[in-house]
Amino acid sequence: MTMWTVGSSAQSRLRRRLPWLTTLGRGLAMRCPFCGKSPAFDGYLHVRPICPGCGTPLGRVPCDDAPPYITLLVVLHVVVTGAVLTERASTMSSTMLLAIFLPLTAVLTLLLLRPIKGATLGILLKVGIVRPALSVSETNGADA
Ligand SMILES: [Zn+2]
Repeated sequence: MTMWTVGSSAQSRLRRRLPWLTTLGRGLAMRCPFCGKSPAFDGYLHVRPICPGCGTPLGRVPCDDAPPYITLLVVLHVVVTGAVLTERASTMSSTMLLAIFLPLTAVLTLLLLRPIKGATLGILLKVGIVRPALSVSETNGADA
């Protein structure tokens, strides 16, 4: 296993050689975008601090608000388009449309959020956006 450091020339070469589709595919499959061997998550949305397969610091990738934003962008385009087309093509009441499309929105969001977070993780790793490692005093919670 190689140690993963930001700016390491060997890691940078490996990261650059990895094709975009491979990185995105591994992320969408919720695997480590770098090696593809280990799961990237150890909970529904909690990213493993370090990949057990290759040592990539997955927990230092700052995904933040991007995955929920992208998920809502995709889901709401699908749901609103479906609701408008259904409303125009049928005589369904508004209550019935809400009864169909509100749960659909929730289900699609929950299904897509995790793979989109994995893909975001892959994109950020591919372009090299990783938070710096904490110093020993920061990890112990001591003040400097
Ligand atoms: Zn890995």
